[in-house]
Order: sequence, then C-alpha cells, then structure tokens
Amino acid sequence: MRLIFEGHNEVYAVEQTLMSLLPDERPTYEEGDADWAKVCLTGGEDRAEAVTEMQYHGVRGTGRAAADLTGSAYAREGQRRRMLQMSFFKAAQTAAGITPPWGSLTGVRPDKMAVVRLDAGLTAEETEQILQEEYFVTSRRARLATETALITRQLREDLGPRDIALYCGIPFCPTRCAYCSFVSHSVERSFSLVEPYLAALEAEVRSAGRMCRELGLRVRAFYMGGGTPTTLTAEQMDRLLSTLEQSFDLSACGEYTVEAGRPDTVTPEKLTVLKAHGTTRISVNPQTMEDTVLRAIGRRHTAAQIFTAMEQVAAAGFAHVNMDLIAGLPEDTPAGFRRSLDTCLTLGADNITVHTLSLKKGSRILTDGLHIPPAEAVAQMLDYADPALRAADYAPYYLYRQKYMSGSFENVGWCRPGAENLYNVYIMSELCSILSCGAGGSTKMVGGPGRMERVFNLKYPKEYTERPEKIAANQAIFAAFYRNMEGAT
Ligand code: SF4
Repeated sequence: MRLIFEGHNEVYAVEQTLMSLLPDERPTYEEGDADWAKVCLTGGEDRAEAVTEMQYHGVRGTGRAAADLTGSAYAREGQRRRMLQMSFFKAAQTAAGITPPWGSLTGVRPDKMAVVRLDAGLTAEETEQILQEEYFVTSRRARLATETALITRQLREDLGPRDIALYCGIPFCPTRCAYCSFVSHSVERSFSLVEPYLAALEAEVRSAGRMCRELGLRVRAFYMGGGTPTTLTAEQMDRLLSTLEQSFDLSACGEYTVEAGRPDTVTPEKLTVLKAHGTTRISVNPQTMEDTVLRAIGRRHTAAQIFTAMEQVAAAGFAHVNMDLIAGLPEDTPAGFRRSLDTCLTLGADNITVHTLSLKKGSRILTDGLHIPPAEAVAQMLDYADPALRAADYAPYYLYRQKYMSGSFENVGWCRPGAENLYNVYIMSELCSILSCGAGGSTKMVGGPGRMERVFNLKYPKEYTERPEKIAANQAIFAAFYRNMEGAT
C-alpha cells in the first residue's frame, strides 16, 4: 500500500499500524500502487486532528480522530501519534472491512493501556469498557488486558529501584524448529563450540556478579533460556550453575527458572542437578501433543517423550512447571490443538503458556512454504483455550503480541493462583532491569517511568566467544546507567 504523509513525519508509527492491521500489506512510496492511504495531521500546540483517506481493493474509507493535547512536549507527541493511528484504523475498518481482535491497539503490549488507566484510578470494569469503546478491542481481549495489567501492578509493588532480573542464554538446540528464526545452533553440528561458549559465559557471569555487588543491585529473578539449556550435559549444567551461585548473591532471588524446552534433552541426572541448585521452576515446551505436527515442525521427538519428560519432572519435585503450546502450527487443526491443551491440563503443569504462531523471517515455514492453518482456525483454537483454562483454575498473568502473528492475536501466560513467572512479567512490563549474559543477550536498563536503555551482546556463539571486549563494553554501559541514576537522585 502506498503511504502519503501530510503535516507530520510519523513514518514508523503509520507503517507499523499498516502491517499490524493488514498483515499482507507492505508500505510503498511510489506512484502506481492501486491501494493507498493519505495520512494527514493538522492543528497546533493544544489541539490536533488526524484524517486518513484510504483506498483498498477498490473500496474507499475515511477515518478521523481529534483531541485536545495535554502534558509535556513528549506526551503531546505521543497523543498526535495515537490520533494518526486511530484515524488510520478507522479508515481501514471501512475500506478493508477489518475487525481486528485488538482493535486499534497495534503495540506489543496491549495491556500497557490498561495499566495506565488503572494507575489513573479507574476500576477494572471502567478500564475494560474504555478498551472496548475507545480502542475497539473485543470484550474477551479487553478482559485479558485488564487482568494481566492488575497482576503487573501487584508485582510492581514488590520491586525496589536496585532490583534486577538476571538472564543466561544457551543458544544450542537439538534441531531447528520450523517456526524458529532464533540464532540457535544445532548442538550436534556445533558440538565443538559448546565448551568454549561455556567458558566465555562463565567469565561473563563472574564479571557481571562483581559489577552487581559493586552497584548494590539485588537479583530478584533468574531465568536460563535459549535455545535449549538442557542440551548441556549434567556436568556442564552443574559447573555453570555453581559459577552463577558463586558470583551472585541470590538470597533475595525468589525465582530460579530453567527452560528444558525439548523433552528429548531431559534426563533424571540433569533434573537432579537443577533441583540441587535450587531451581524453583522448569519449563517443558511441547508446543503440540500431536505427533503429525511435531514431525511437521521438525522437533525430532514424539508426544510419548513429552509424557516421559513430565513424569521425570514430577518425580524431581519442582515447585512450578510450565508447558508452552503454540496455536497455528503447520498441519495442526482446531481439534488437534484442543487435544494438545486437554492433555497438557492432565500433566500437572501449574503454568501453561499459549502462544500464537508468529511468522519469522528466515524460518522454515516461510522458506519452505509450509502449510499453516488459516486465521479462522487459529481463532477457534484460542476461543477454546480461554474458557478451558479458566475452568481448570488458570488465570492469565502476562500478555504480549509479536509482529506477523496469525490472525493478529496474542501470547498469554496462564497459571494457577500464585504460580506467576515473575521474570516474564518483569521483562514484558519493563518493571526492572534485565541483565542478560550469553550470546544474543539483550540487556534492558530500566530506571523509572520513560527511562529505558538497551545493549545487545554479540549474536552468534563463535563471535561472542571470540570478542570478550564487547561484553566488557556492555557492562561498562550498564554500570554507568546505574551510576548516573545515583547522580540524578
Ligand atoms: S527449541 Fe526454541 S530456540 Fe530451539 S529451535 Fe526450537 S523454537 Fe528455536
């Protein structure tokens, strides 16, 4: 779709809105495209009006949004942007006949709006109503956003300015899943990289621990993800976790999570090591319990192996267990997804995360053109999941969206009361800094409302291992962030 701007230069916001509302469209800027949108902004310091005229597949639509502007220059800029997005949404509603589940909300955190409203003193009911009436969010999604926002606010209460979460990444997997674009290496093909990688990671963990002690930071949640951390041997895992515990004071860390994503990497020996190191939460991620779907996504394990892994996990006695499912996988059907969820509900996990398939650049689904269920089928899967989980005493506690999701739906973490994964809420709602160790790690520095910076570790295990100076540079930025905060208070 050709985009034309008048009176503003909010290219990114409009492009993102276009791709979120009409996922098959890409922005263009040359004449000749039969589909177009002219997005105009008028007004001054105190009031603005946005008008979008759109033509889509021969149908015309116009959307308008106007409001008084209030607050700081930064706040007013956000309000203008919001009006442009709203006018674009209204024009697309008429021209393209769309009724997206999240209405005009296009960001990755649709519950952010609910947090703002609740913070302003609105009740949960009033917040849900505003999401439906002002942002055109469907009633079920408005409820989801409000419920997860309430949990965010509750967990935020318990965090101080020097509290952080710690992440360690193990970028190796047994095979590459068809939907994945993560820079994970097959452990069989990259076997020789694992030991040097671990040595570099342990060095990073040690220096990160020293830095946190000097800065007086408290680790409140630890998360080891990947990749698949349980591709490490029991001995390698023991060594890494020992280094972690020697390097950091974990006495205030209420949560210790390790992903055991692929059931074919789980063994009683590894679980014994995890338990001995105080792991409180483990995540076994079948994604589906259907063998045909597991084959289609290249997982190289069967549903029977998931049952075995869950039995071993139950025998090891972790306080909390998560299972991940994905709605919309290649070769899956609404009936298959229902069976998968119903089976997971019998396996003793107190956390079930229901993702919606997101199409990632470079994933085999796109490169090999794998067949995926249409958005209507994904909607049926999610329509089943919500009431089924509620009936089994699970409630939603965190929520996020990604680009190019089937049907523009969402990912939701569900859990039994008191089993919330703190790390997931902290990172999604940007409640505290996340210090990430390992290849591809993304460190977020959060210093109060509106103050956030990021640094990224090198992506690939080999370059991460060979260039420790990048880690030192990132840690220097992290330390300076906290020292500047001290100076500012
Ligand atoms: S297990 Fe996770 S990180 Fe590894 S290939 Fe599959 S989706 Fe990617």
